[in-house]
Amino acid sequence: MATRHYNIPVFVPEEGCPHRCIFCNQFGITCTATAPLPEEVPSIVAEWRSRFNSEGSHIELAFFGGSFTGIGTGKQEAYLDQAYKLKQEGIIHAIRLSTRPDYIDPERIERLLRYGVSTVELGAQSMDDSVLRASGRGHTSAQVAHATGMLQAAGIGVVLQMMTGLPGDTPEGAIRTAHEIIALRPEGTRIYPCLVMKGSPLEQRYDEGKYTPQSLEEAVVLAATLSEIFEESEVKVLRIGLHPSAAGEVVAGPWHPSFSELVASEKWSRRLLQEINLENPHRSIAIYCPPKQVNAVAGFNASNRKRLSGYFDQIRIYADPYLTGRMLHVDYL
Ligand code: SF4
Repeated sequence: MATRHYNIPVFVPEEGCPHRCIFCNQFGITCTATAPLPEEVPSIVAEWRSRFNSEGSHIELAFFGGSFTGIGTGKQEAYLDQAYKLKQEGIIHAIRLSTRPDYIDPERIERLLRYGVSTVELGAQSMDDSVLRASGRGHTSAQVAHATGMLQAAGIGVVLQMMTGLPGDTPEGAIRTAHEIIALRPEGTRIYPCLVMKGSPLEQRYDEGKYTPQSLEEAVVLAATLSEIFEESEVKVLRIGLHPSAAGEVVAGPWHPSFSELVASEKWSRRLLQEINLENPHRSIAIYCPPKQVNAVAGFNASNRKRLSGYFDQIRIYADPYLTGRMLHVDYL
């Protein structure tokens, strides 16, 4: 049986971030009230571990929520020290963290190696410099490539996160970004649609009519295409869309609590249309798919099933344990 993987997130918002990314409402905010103290990390891990059967599992501690390598060195080391001890004791097996590409340099990499960090997630967002500039990111695409190369050369795995619908970006531009990310050979990616968050510079642009967010449909269709491109290149898509907890902060944009399910449904809709002969004279159809994909094949709110019902009287969807990935088998009855 495959080893189960658990990620234990510890959110360490960056304190008083000096940047002004247009989509973010965190800059300048001192988040010490919400960041756990370093010495609280073991109890957070223990609490998470008590929620699942961790026997034989691979457990990773993930410092998320900000630019980890941008926080003060002393505090960084205090967090990493706690994580390192947990790893030494075998309570966790790996450490990952998220940061900005311009917060990676030889000194920081040496620190990450010293504390046994195995994966770094970089917010690339776009590989188009004009989009990065228009989004106030404060780094270039060359810095994304440079940071990725330095981390990989040190033996640290890299995940590159990208965002769609940024000011000045287009679906074609996002697809180019995906290809440039793939060329850097990351372990994985995360795809986030840009949302207008309360208190962000983008909210003002939106109120002034200077920014139009993607519609939900546009964002879903693009995320599905990007996800297919990454999968074809064997770059794992770790997440699509923001965590539902962000809902209260969203002013406008392609927000949906089940965004990733909508994307999965769209991908299977495309796959079904490729595979199924809609002109077939048979009135019933049996679709066999990988067991975990039965709901996604039926579609979000059964949307794919409803579409097919325009062509077939009976549509049955079966789990086939011999099928994996995007495999489908269709019988006409
Ligand atoms: S998204 Fe940009 S502004 Fe927001 S915390 Fe990260 S670096 Fe700072």
